[in-house]
Amino acid sequence: MRKPIIAGNWKMNKFIPEGISLVKELKEILKPVKEREIVVCPPFTLLFSLAEELKGSNIILGAQNLFAAEFGAYTGEISPLMLKELGVIYCIIGHSERRRLFGEDNSLINQKSKIALKLGIKPIVCIGETLEEREKELTFSVIKEQITGVLAGLSSSELANIVIAYEPIWAIGTGRTATCEQAEEVHSFIRKEVSNLYGERIALALRIQYGGSVKPENIASLMKEKDIDGALVGGASLSADSFSKIVRY
Ligand code: PEP
Repeated sequence: MRKPIIAGNWKMNKFIPEGISLVKELKEILKPVKEREIVVCPPFTLLFSLAEELKGSNIILGAQNLFAAEFGAYTGEISPLMLKELGVIYCIIGHSERRRLFGEDNSLINQKSKIALKLGIKPIVCIGETLEEREKELTFSVIKEQITGVLAGLSSSELANIVIAYEPIWAIGTGRTATCEQAEEVHSFIRKEVSNLYGERIALALRIQYGGSVKPENIASLMKEKDIDGALVGGASLSADSFSKIVRY
């Protein structure tokens, strides 16, 4: 049985007091929830305060990015060890905004995932096609290339600590969600590809989140699909009301 994982990607939003009050509200509303893994991924500036705030709660701390080295002359970057020191458990890696705005590719995302796993951070690895790729019917070849690239060289035991987030780029922040059928088609394809690479047992245990304009109104139907195991939520994770409704779909 795969436990659903709902993660909020706050992106570059929330000052410290706002972030703290958001998780205070979430802690209260979501206290009774046991059947979901709940993750919040605030900006780096909030990690220290939220780590304190979330101690003893059922909400797990995640980050939005890390650098593929332990220490060194990498001005402006953050080591996985520094995240771990703060109590970070998950880290989003290779979000489409990082691919598009900061030139991250499958090979860098693979390096980041490898070092994260080695140092004890669980990657939420993002993949997904652009609208142009979908319209040219390249979705499955793009997804296959991304899966092969981002997972290259990872062992079966490492796969147990990875979450894949399928985020069709055309659905992120646009209000345009993939239909349940469109999402399920790709999720089941991802699981099949992982099965080809690692075998059925590993593929069946892998959690694959959907991301792209997830809201309280569409989460329940997405979660009915066989291969959708949770959501990576952007905009709707910024309010306690909408995020908690998504968690408790
Ligand atoms: C995201 O940023 O990962 C995302 C899915 O954003 P939104 O929910 O706002 O589309």
